[in-house]
Amino acid sequence: MGDNLYKERYSKRGMTEVRPMTAKVGVVPSADGSAIFETGKTKAIAVVRGPRTLHPQHMQNARTGILRVNYGMMPFSVEDRIRPGPNRRSEEISKVAEWALSSVVDLSGFPNTVVDVFIQIPQADAGTRVAGINAAAMALAHAGLPMKEMVSAIGVGKIDKTLVVDLDKYEDSLFHDGEGSTDIPVVMTSRGKEIALLQLDGKISFSEFREVVEMAKKACGDILKVQTRALHEVSGDRLQVTGGDDE
Ligand code: ADP
Repeated sequence: MGDNLYKERYSKRGMTEVRPMTAKVGVVPSADGSAIFETGKTKAIAVVRGPRTLHPQHMQNARTGILRVNYGMMPFSVEDRIRPGPNRRSEEISKVAEWALSSVVDLSGFPNTVVDVFIQIPQADAGTRVAGINAAAMALAHAGLPMKEMVSAIGVGKIDKTLVVDLDKYEDSLFHDGEGSTDIPVVMTSRGKEIALLQLDGKISFSEFREVVEMAKKACGDILKVQTRALHEVSGDRLQVTGGDDE
């Protein structure tokens, strides 16, 4: 098996230490809800529009409104320019973000409607899907939509033989030839502390998996504090749903 090649993080961060985080809501005044969430060099902006009547009509659900998430990276969000427009990766991330967020947003009071969530990444240094979900959850709360609870998300993983929290792009791309690095985005609910979404790219043993999920839980607790603080900064300003039909 050989020595562990990743005993110290190149950034000098502790193994369970997240990158510096900042969050702010109401960053797009024309939207029904909006937020920015940053972790290190990764930035995510989320904008919410709706609920509004869903067209075409055959896609409507008479029992509930539906959530529709659109994730995209801006062309110059990474060093090599990314071709604009949707691709398989962005469609997958849109879908998983939609699943994770749908588990906490209650749109049963808005039948036949859609709530659109646009997640954009102006600057990427890994962890964009989790940063995007953090921003989107805040933007939905800012829009005043009924939420059973909040969600907070973090990427955890394994680099060579070491378990780590919040991998950046450099760490994400380490050791692809050896045991590789393992990337596990985790979305946790705030009250129930349940996993709303977990993906796994790479290999990990079951006992390490349990340990790293515990590390994710703890990090999500810290992220929740950042999200809640940002929401409190504007609470009182926007507590009600600002819409319900085609405005
Ligand atoms: P996440 O951003 O959620 O960690 P991935 O694991 O797919 O998602 O991507 C990791 C990182 O790789 C991204 O955050 C970004 O920094 C970089 N990346 C993703 N797609 C591209 C691309 N097409 N070109 C260059 N870098 C990319």
